[in-house]
Parts: sequence; C-alpha cells; structure tokens
Amino acid sequence: MVDPASGTVLGEVVATTAEEVDAAVGRAAAAFPRWRDVAPGERARLLRRFAALVDAHLEELALLEVRNSGHTIGNARWEAGNVRDVLDYYAGAPERLAGRQIPVPGGLDVTFHEPLGVVGVIVPWNFPMPIAAWGFAPALAAGNTVVLKPAELTPLTALRLAELGRDAGLPEDVFTVLPGRGDVVGERFVTHPAVRKVCFTGSTEVGTRIMAGCAAQVKRVTLELGGKSANVVFADADLERAAATAPYAVFDNAGQDCCARSRILVQRPAYDRFLELLEPAVRALRVEDPARETAEMGPLISAAQRDRVAGYVDGARVAFTGSRPDGPGFWHAPTVLLADSPADRHWREEIFGPVVSVLPFDDEADAVRLANDTEYGLSGSVWTRDVGRALRMARAVEAGNLSVNSHSSVRYWTPFGGMKRSGLGRELGPDALHAFTDVKNVFISTEE
Ligand code: NAD
Repeated sequence: MVDPASGTVLGEVVATTAEEVDAAVGRAAAAFPRWRDVAPGERARLLRRFAALVDAHLEELALLEVRNSGHTIGNARWEAGNVRDVLDYYAGAPERLAGRQIPVPGGLDVTFHEPLGVVGVIVPWNFPMPIAAWGFAPALAAGNTVVLKPAELTPLTALRLAELGRDAGLPEDVFTVLPGRGDVVGERFVTHPAVRKVCFTGSTEVGTRIMAGCAAQVKRVTLELGGKSANVVFADADLERAAATAPYAVFDNAGQDCCARSRILVQRPAYDRFLELLEPAVRALRVEDPARETAEMGPLISAAQRDRVAGYVDGARVAFTGSRPDGPGFWHAPTVLLADSPADRHWREEIFGPVVSVLPFDDEADAVRLANDTEYGLSGSVWTRDVGRALRMARAVEAGNLSVNSHSSVRYWTPFGGMKRSGLGRELGPDALHAFTDVKNVFISTEE
C-alpha cells in the first residue's frame, strides 16, 4: 500500500489465493442458513450495533482512507459517516421486508423475499468505504452472507470494517473481506457456484466481462460502471452559482468519481461569461495535502492514473488550470479543456481525473442530443430557471441520477445507478433489498 500524497509505502496486505477464496466461500455458504434464520429484530440490532461501532471509529476510518487513498479528510469523514448511515438505514429493513398477499380463488397466495445465499461484492479504489457498504449493508439486512473484495490499491478500510462487524457481534463467516487480485478473487466470485450474486462496481470493461461470466450460471448481478456525465448550463440559469459549483461537481475526489460532471455544455449566449466565472473558481480550489482540514482536492490514486490523465491533456486546448503542490505524490492540477467537437477524445472517454471539457450548444434539442451522445448514462445536472425546461431536460437526458440547479447524486435513501453502459440495477434507496432477494410465491389451498 502506498500513500498517494507522498508516495510513501504504508505496508503490505497479503493477497488471498484462489484456494483461500474457495474455503471462505464454503464457510460463508455454511453460515448462510444460520444467518437467514436469525430473527429479523436481532439481525436489525446487530446491524445497528455495527453502525454505532463505525460511528465510534469514524475518525480512525477517515484517517486510514486519507493515507491509503489520498482522499481529503473532509471527504473521508463523510465516507465513513455514509457507511454508518447506510448500515443504520438498512438496519430498518429486516423487520419490514414484507411480502404480499394476493387474492386468489380456492386458497391463500403469499409472496416472500428470500435471501439468495452468498453475495460477492467487488469494490473499486475510488470510494472504498461507501461502495463496500452499499453492497454489504442491504445484502446482510436481507439475510445473505457476504464475501467482499476491495480494490488492490485500497483494502485497508474494508479490512477494518470487517473487524468492526465482528466486534459488533456479527456471527463468524457472515461478512468476510478477502483482499487480492481482481483476476483471482473477483473472478472466483463469478465462477464459484455457491456465490449466488455478484455486486460489482468498477470499469465498464471489467463489468461487461463479469456480466458475461455470470450468465453461465444465470447468476444475479448488479453493475455500477463508468460515466461521462453532462452538466448542462442554459443561458437563463444562475450563472454565478452554476460556475461556482461546477468545479466541485467534477474535481471532487480529484475527478475519480463515476458521477463526475466531466462534460460541461453551455448555451452559446452564456458561454464566454460562464468561462469568465469558472476560471477564478477553478484557480481558487485548494489542492493540497489531503490531511489538511482546508483541503478540497488531493492527489490521484497512483502514478499510473496520473500519467493516464495527463495523456488526455497533452495536445488538447487548455482554457486554464488550477494549482497543484510541488514535490512527491501523484498530483495533477484541475484542468479545463475546450472541446473543438463532440468527437474529441477528452469529450468522449471517461478520464477519471481532474479534467473537464467544455462545449457550447444552441438550443434545448441540441443540448439533449449532445448530452445523450455517449455510451454512458450515470448522472448529470441541468441549470436553468425555467421549470418546464428543467423537467423536460430531466426526462430527456438518459441518465440514472439527475439534479436540477444542483450537483447532488448520492443520498443513501434514494436509488442510485446507471442507464446504458453505466450499469444495471439500482443500489441504495428503499428498493435495494429486492436486488438481494428472490421473490417466492406460495399458494396454500383452502379446499376441503
Ligand atoms: P476496475 O474495473 O479495474 O476494478 C474494479 C474492481 O474489480 C477491483 O476490485 C478489481 O480488482 C476488480 N477486478 C478487476 N478485474 C476483475 C476480473 N476479471 N474479475 C473480477 N473482478 C475484477 O475499476 P477501477 O479502476 O478500480 O475503478 C474505476 C472505475 O470504476 C471507473 O470506470 C468508474 O467510473 C467506476 N466506478 C463506478 C461507480 C458507479 O457507481 N457507477 C462508482 C465508482 C467507480
């Protein structure tokens, strides 16, 4: 493990072997019937206790994330708090996971939401804590056991969360974290017949392979994949607010955010004024040691990621950039690029770094066409004072999470997920439990 802000080696985590994965999945499968049969109120109590322990260790978890992932301390605290909140939210689920009673002649018809068995959760490096919890919390609440693979670069908080789960009283083998390689541990989740569902967050490329692999066993799968989201700014919008908030919508977490609004579309009459307002906002962004309370952006996760990002800027038309500290660490300054056309590589591909592209548009139809001209469909924003237009745009943009005059994407109590190649299924919100259960219909005859 390496501290991305300094390049310092933090230590080593031993990778799980394929044989060890098989053994862990076997134990999780054996633990499943016992966990499923824990009374709903007791399962709820254990999850609440888990949430309370996360809360009690919030600062420790946050500092661990700052060191392992280079997240700003403010973000890392939010992320640990999000794990607590997601656990608390789904702790309310076991007692409410009710089926239906459907009128039928000659008997009684009822449905049950049956847990699946062992659920494999595969997590990327960009938000190690929240994305882990969005999988394991509802999966556990629904009565499944969980094996979880954190990303190779960022396993430390997941390992600590597993310890806190044990301390909270989760029975042995109900929640197991298996650090290791994607093509060993992750792959085995896909091929192992006792893993009944894979919940994957990561790149569209790997997600596509996982979906194909799961098809061989008709294995359930949830995919949260890449994005290239649009921030559409109409000329009638509050331009000051739109420009002041745009940097945070793309440079948060150094742009390593699947929801990053990395394409800014500005209506032509407002284009120059918007860029004029955006420049000071980008220059003022505090890019510094992520452990500092004032930090707004930290380093990228690795040297390889920084070099990949820099590759998109080389040869592109740079409007202006923000700052970055000198010295060691994997830093890249926030960068605003001007797109010449929607065919530009930086306009089309997910960069996953602090780079945003700006393009003018003419009218509403043009905005919809450009916003949807992408294989992705995760999130997006629309800025306008016209309510009718805001609603038309919100319906017309093909993305799973849209915000109007705001950039918010994630609330643990509302659904989250992508359209098109940004994913399959939804996480969070009131319906996430259904992704970790199968409906069983039972008819009981009342005939004599
Ligand atoms: P990645 O696809 O390389 O890796 C994600 C996880 O999959 C890692 O744990 C990795 O070890 C594992 N993996 C790799 N190969 C595998 C295989 N053959 N079988 C099973 N598992 C395998 O992605 P990344 O680089 O860690 O993360 C960045 C990507 O994640 C970006 O594209 C980003 O948009 C996406 N992402 C999406 C969301 C969302 O909710 N939609 C959230 C965060 C990140």
